[in-house]
Amino acid sequence: MTSFDIPEALVRAEIDEAALCDNAAVLADRLSPARLKCVVKANAYGHGIDLVAPALFSAGWREFCVATIPEALRLRSLLGPEAQILAWLYGPTTDLDEAVRADIELGISTVGALDRLAEAARRTGVTARAHLKIDTGLGRNGLSPEALVRAFDWLRRHAEDSHTDDSGNPEAGADIRIVGMMSHFAVADEPERPETAAQSAVFSSAHGQLRAVLDAADGRLGESDDLDVHIANSPGALTLGPCPGTSARVGLALYGLSPLEDGDPAALGLRPVMRLTSSVINLKDIPAGHGASYGLTFTAATDTRFALVPGGYGDGLPRAASNRAEVAIRGRRYPVVGRIAMDQMIIDIGAGNDEVAIGDEVVIFGPGGPSAAEWGTWANTINYEIVTQLSARVDRVARKGDGR
Ligand SMILES: *Cc1c(COP(=O)(O)O)cnc(C)c1O
Repeated sequence: MTSFDIPEALVRAEIDEAALCDNAAVLADRLSPARLKCVVKANAYGHGIDLVAPALFSAGWREFCVATIPEALRLRSLLGPEAQILAWLYGPTTDLDEAVRADIELGISTVGALDRLAEAARRTGVTARAHLKIDTGLGRNGLSPEALVRAFDWLRRHAEDSHTDDSGNPEAGADIRIVGMMSHFAVADEPERPETAAQSAVFSSAHGQLRAVLDAADGRLGESDDLDVHIANSPGALTLGPCPGTSARVGLALYGLSPLEDGDPAALGLRPVMRLTSSVINLKDIPAGHGASYGLTFTAATDTRFALVPGGYGDGLPRAASNRAEVAIRGRRYPVVGRIAMDQMIIDIGAGNDEVAIGDEVVIFGPGGPSAAEWGTWANTINYEIVTQLSARVDRVARKGDGR
């Protein structure tokens, strides 16, 4: 087997680690005294977990969240034992032993998950750390009000059964500890809506009940004063006055993108972390009447010049933005014409445009070009999806920040 030196990919996502760490500091300030939890699920929202998580860890951040257990284990191997890692999405047959062994904290959304986590703790001999996840209105994962009652019953029974702990009996084995409580907002990006306050109220009432259950168990299930209580996401962190709870799980805003419609990251003190670039690899003069790309959905009205740019839906660019999107070359915006193909797109730079040369950098989105939010608008989606769906073909490279 020969090994090759693989050249750089044609489409690159430059990751500005300085912007990332500045954003974390700005957000932490805003949240204080609540703490920042950095959400790095889905390959750090497409930015590349290998770059993002170590950069945040080096800057001193210790609390990280992902959705799934495979993501959590990957993160543990990247960051080592000092990082606090929380995951909340797994199925009824997902093996929890490895997560417990790796000291991953788990969100608990069903009573069955409590059973399974306690078993995993016994089997592995490692204390399992759990956050009760409560559905306060989103209707997604989390304990429903009725399941919460059963979870409290489960905890009371469990505390009685594990009464032998105080004797220091080693056979009692490792157990489950409730270290946190969490929920998730549905409409915090629309501050005028009343549901967010309603969710907060349900959450704080559940918090009171959980405290009482823990206090009645005399520390056998965890300390009520040490509970890590978190409900806010990026929109919650940016729109609510004081952040509710002891921490907030912030994803999108960390990457310098706004979760609010028409929200300007700069007005929030945030800088986009990703700059997605490609280059001009061909130029051709096109006569009026000539078409562009599959389906010939665009026809040149006048003589013009096309620039060919690598980057298509195989890289994660949305085909829905065909004939709508723009890119920037040498600081000027030009339209994408015709359908965005799997690997490439056509840019109409205008007849006789000698400003653009083969090899020129093309900013698809990010500083110096359109925003991920604009691409979201062009593709009838949101900036979250634009960055997260970038494919493995795109190189993620660290770009030492210059504030651009
Ligand atoms: C994705 C996610 C977050 C982060 O949301 P942002 O809007 O990106 O800040 C927080 N909590 C949960 C449960 C999530 O699924």
